[in-house]
Amino acid sequence: MIEIPARKGRAVRVAKGQRVKVINSRGQQVVDTWAFNAEDLREFMSMEHSRVAIGGIIPVLGDGLVTNRRRPILTLVEDTSGGVHDTLFAACDRWRYEMLGCTEYHDNCTDNLWAGMSALGLAPPETPAPLNLFMNIPVVDGNRVEVRPPVSTPGSFVCLRAEMDCIVAFSACPQDMLPVNGLAMNPTEAHFEILD
Ligand SMILES: [Zn+2]
Repeated sequence: MIEIPARKGRAVRVAKGQRVKVINSRGQQVVDTWAFNAEDLREFMSMEHSRVAIGGIIPVLGDGLVTNRRRPILTLVEDTSGGVHDTLFAACDRWRYEMLGCTEYHDNCTDNLWAGMSALGLAPPETPAPLNLFMNIPVVDGNRVEVRPPVSTPGSFVCLRAEMDCIVAFSACPQDMLPVNGLAMNPTEAHFEILD
């Protein structure tokens, strides 16, 4: 198991056919997740294209997330977390925290993506909308969205199968000004594992 440190990001190479197990070690931690085609980083997992492909806003077992070229890149093959994830919210960034009143630098998922990729000697072409694993953003009254604590429990996990050789990046979301990571608003570490 590899740790995604609290408030930080990691990236890893995953071969086609391997599975990425993302573990919510403490139970309330949102993990922003991205995937890029290892051969061409300009092709990446796209939430807007995936919602079309799956006909919904939250992937369920067997659903294939697709790229901005509409090709399958990750398939959700296991989920013990309660099945509540988010595809609607952009990754947090310095501007988000400034809007929330933060006057100093705040760790954020966007910088974590770039740092994680940089550790592999890579740079993403942009910051795609992430698959926000374990993030609980219900649509209420058919239109409004609310930020609620995750429903996942300690040690629960999701497994994503790679449908092409890819780079998968994670950020243990450092959001501590809204209950994204639980009512305690205390970001924690998470873990991942690559399975053959
Ligand atoms: Zn975040």
